[in-house]
Amino acid sequence: MRALVRVVSWVAGLCLLGVLLFFALQQYNFVEPARELLLDAAGVSPSSRVDPCLQNDSAGDIVASIDYTDAHALNILFDQVDIWHVEAEQQTAVALVSPAQQQWLTQEGFPFSQNTELTDALPDPCTFQVQADSRSIPGYACYRTVEATHADMATLAEQYPDLTQLNDIGNSWYKIRSFGLAGSDIQALVLTNNQTTDIEKGELVVIGAQHPRELATTEIATLFAEMLLSQYGVDPDLTWLLDYNRIHIIPLANPDGRTWVEKGHLWRKNTNSTNGCDFPRHGVDLNRNGSFLWNHCNGCSSSDVCSNFYRGDEPASEPETRAIEAYLRDVFADQRGEGYNDPAPEDTNGVFISLHSYGRLLFYPWEHSSV
Ligand SMILES: [Zn+2]
Repeated sequence: MRALVRVVSWVAGLCLLGVLLFFALQQYNFVEPARELLLDAAGVSPSSRVDPCLQNDSAGDIVASIDYTDAHALNILFDQVDIWHVEAEQQTAVALVSPAQQQWLTQEGFPFSQNTELTDALPDPCTFQVQADSRSIPGYACYRTVEATHADMATLAEQYPDLTQLNDIGNSWYKIRSFGLAGSDIQALVLTNNQTTDIEKGELVVIGAQHPRELATTEIATLFAEMLLSQYGVDPDLTWLLDYNRIHIIPLANPDGRTWVEKGHLWRKNTNSTNGCDFPRHGVDLNRNGSFLWNHCNGCSSSDVCSNFYRGDEPASEPETRAIEAYLRDVFADQRGEGYNDPAPEDTNGVFISLHSYGRLLFYPWEHSSV
């Protein structure tokens, strides 16, 4: 009897250990760091270790025009496929569709046809590689990589010490969850005349690339900083801007996702791989993860972990969201009233802009309802 008890307790102990190990593996991203460590140990240089097709899980993707019947059907589509735009009059959605999603469309009775021109223009991760000496994203000579953007921000801070301050405001998901072997700091370049300290300054915060594949946004934010600094003392209006305001530029609000864009993936979310969805559809939509009115908008965010609109499992669950929110709380006084529609007080100071592309739309707060 005693032997039986001992066996049972051993088995129970091992099961418990297994469960704990399982959850630990779920929590941390071991695969990439382990691979990097092994390659480091083997002396393989970083440039030669990149297999361009290693992460080519987008093979067989097409851009398709999908017919839908009503708003309910369109909402279902939004959850299941990566819709780029909607032609409402024709009741057609243009979307990126994987082979598995094509099967799903057929099963669910959504008629679709391939858009050959857009499909042919899709980046191929096998050939879409940043060259070792290149500062730009392949095929987009004017758009800087994460590395080049951060290097240029550091250079600006060095060149213009009286007009800038470079802040590390937090870490990306990879940096926290991969034991620092990958990932990035989130950086804010603050532009103002550092001598004019006795003025109550206006505050403007601009962030780019919360959705990494929206390429233009990082470049617009960085070029804006470069223009303000190079024209200080030359253009009277731009000089006034920096004398009487503080302009905070965060060109890469989601640097991890951007590194997948640099490898040819149309990445929209962050890189959190612990929510139960496989590469390349995992991650949290940082633009649906904010703590204020989280999960309040009607159908504009999703609980489906594979959806491009996945809001995360709780408000501000992601490190990138928490970094930006903490920074905004630091910059702006919270002057909101009790009700959502209370007017801002007379002395409200500050503007926050999150840049996206390519909707040609301007959304005002609060965007959780259409009224
Ligand atoms: Zn966006």
